[in-house]
Amino acid sequence: VIALDNIHKCFGSVEVLRGVSLEVKAGEVVSIIGPSGSGKTTLLRTINGIETINQGTINVKGITLTSDASSQALNEIHSKVGMVFQSYNLFPHLTILRNITLAPIHVNRVNKKDAEAEALRLLEVVGLREKANNYPSQLSGGQQQRVAIARALAMHPDIMLFDEVTSALDPELVGEVLLVMRKLAEGGMTMILVTHEMKFAEEVADRVIVMDKGVIVEQGPAKEVFAHPKTERTAKFLRRAL
Ligand code: ATP
Repeated sequence: VIALDNIHKCFGSVEVLRGVSLEVKAGEVVSIIGPSGSGKTTLLRTINGIETINQGTINVKGITLTSDASSQALNEIHSKVGMVFQSYNLFPHLTILRNITLAPIHVNRVNKKDAEAEALRLLEVVGLREKANNYPSQLSGGQQQRVAIARALAMHPDIMLFDEVTSALDPELVGEVLLVMRKLAEGGMTMILVTHEMKFAEEVADRVIVMDKGVIVEQGPAKEVFAHPKTERTAKFLRRAL
């Protein structure tokens, strides 16, 4: 469902992605790991069109993005790819329910009753049905992140991208968010996640991608990559991370 071909991305004179090619199949869970600054977040952001690319082609479910992508193509990609960030960015003045129904009602033109029914179903999935009428500030960080996941799912994406979604959480709250992600993966969602949770990557991801300095340096099943890194750069990174 996703094919990246020779993606290049520059910020000013700095080339942050230097020719990344990657294919992800429907239902596959891919974890991107690698040192800070290697381009993981930037790669994720190019896949849903938040960052435009300088060279290469991105194909997501038949929609193609190139360096001169139209805003229509970007919008189409947005509607197919959900993304959850490290900071959950819920609207503080809206209830949990309203946070989730906002985009379905105003972007997808779903009627309020249906949007609310779907939001309650999704809150059930993330274990927060009873928080529907609370405000974000009344929830823990882990709960807010679970709401952010429900909010992304409310747009019925075909693909979910997760960018270090547990990095800002207190350690005791990480597990509940990972559990929701694990359930999604088991349900067959196509997922790409940037994570520092190596154990989670090993348990849940079908494939681990190691990035360094803007390129993919190796990839394979997590167990293989972790046990027998092919390059010294990966070995060094893993020694610090595992
Ligand atoms: P981390 O693990 O620290 O989040 P990362 O692998 O996700 O790192 P990116 O966030 O993709 O790395 O950043 C790659 C490089 O691009 C970094 O050197 C960063 O400073 C630079 N960069 C990212 N976004 C921008 C931007 N909007 N403008 C300029 N430079 C940027």
